[in-house]
Amino acid sequence: MPETSSNLRKYRDLYNIHKKSCKLRKPDRHGHKIEMKLTFEQWLQIWMDSGKLEQRGRGKGGYCMARHDDLGDYEVGNVSIKSIVENSREAKLGRGGVKGRVSPTKGKTWSASSNTLRAEAAKNVTKTPCPHCSALHTQAHLARYHGDRCKLAPRLVANLESALSPGADRSGDDS
Ligand SMILES: [Zn+2]
Repeated sequence: MPETSSNLRKYRDLYNIHKKSCKLRKPDRHGHKIEMKLTFEQWLQIWMDSGKLEQRGRGKGGYCMARHDDLGDYEVGNVSIKSIVENSREAKLGRGGVKGRVSPTKGKTWSASSNTLRAEAAKNVTKTPCPHCSALHTQAHLARYHGDRCKLAPRLVANLESALSPGADRSGDDS
């Protein structure tokens, strides 16, 4: 059955969308910028040969054009039509069967002696008192939440007071 011209127009639109989406995609895991090197005719032929053209799309029952091993360009010889479920399962397997990054401490345990060492190290961290609230903090915590940023710092207290009294004169020097 020959493709009707309205179907052809629809497929050409789909092809153009696919081609455009390649430009927006991140490079593959080898840092290669993914390109659509198939012509519309080649693209359509691959879909027609698969017999899945009408099931092209997202979701569980859908089919997509996948690159072999998720690498390289969309070009003849490097693509096949796969079910979306199958393709995402393969993508996961390529990363060891999991999504995202695996914590380097996953599944590891610590010995009693290393626990003691870490506990001692934590005790020996030097703590500095905040000049405003005088609580003891590590350098990192002090820099981020205390010192000039402390809730009790005069500048913040002054700002807070003027915010709480709407009639207050804001032109005064509050340094
Ligand atoms: Zn403080």
